[in-house]
Amino acid sequence: MVTGGAPVVALDGPASSGKSSVGAAVAAAFGLRFFDSGLLYRALAFAALDHGVDPADGPAVAALAPSVSVEPGQEGRLERVRIDGRDVSAQVRTHEVDRVVSAVARAPEVRAALLIRQRALAEGGGIVVAGRDIGTVVLPAADVKIWLDASAGERAGRRALERGIDPASAAGQAILDEMRRRDGVDGGRAIAPARPADEAIHVRTDGNTLDQTIAAVVAAVTAGLAAGATLAAGGRTTGGSVIAGGLTTGAEGAER
Ligand code: C5P
Repeated sequence: MVTGGAPVVALDGPASSGKSSVGAAVAAAFGLRFFDSGLLYRALAFAALDHGVDPADGPAVAALAPSVSVEPGQEGRLERVRIDGRDVSAQVRTHEVDRVVSAVARAPEVRAALLIRQRALAEGGGIVVAGRDIGTVVLPAADVKIWLDASAGERAGRRALERGIDPASAAGQAILDEMRRRDGVDGGRAIAPARPADEAIHVRTDGNTLDQTIAAVVAAVTAGLAAGATLAAGGRTTGGSVIAGGLTTGAEGAER
């Protein structure tokens, strides 16, 4: 294991791919903590709106980072977020925050400030971390990397239903448009774009029930940890790369 014996699982994927609910359930199944890194970007986006700061002004938004704190809710989930001590866990999940969060997240100053925070939260291991760049940038030495994905239509439909909106309505279409826009910004930014690590296990969730996806990810984590244990028992190769068991390293660790 990379972090003192306790496994680290990177669970990346686009908006509404199920990372949060799946990640929490998978963490519980393995007795790990769970942290959804999107919460930090959302908290900063909310703080910017709240302070009247332009969400695209990277240095000004990054200056708000010390006011954000994350703490555990139930069952080891790091899910409560505070700004200057005020609990804003519900406010960070609104449509207003959806609209500006990708602009906040593309600023290099913001990513640098939150990189430190994310690594600190994952310290000691024993954690599943959900996000966009966890396997590629934040925790490149994670024991298992998963890329969870589904079509934009499926993801937008889920988001609409969560918010009590008919996916076929104009409001449902607006959610789909917004999601496509956010996918474009997150995947196209210069620093740490949303993308699977080369060695990530891909899990596609179209048409799945939540339980089916959880089972698929539990199986992927089990396989990934078993492959890692095999490597630790002697599967390492020369040149700093690990080439057995489908887990490879090499270009990892670079800021992309
Ligand atoms: O996952 P969620 O939709 O809550 O993430 C909100 C936004 O935070 C994403 O659209 C993305 O812009 C940003 N984000 C990121 N890197 C992460 C997690 C989230 O850029 N690791």
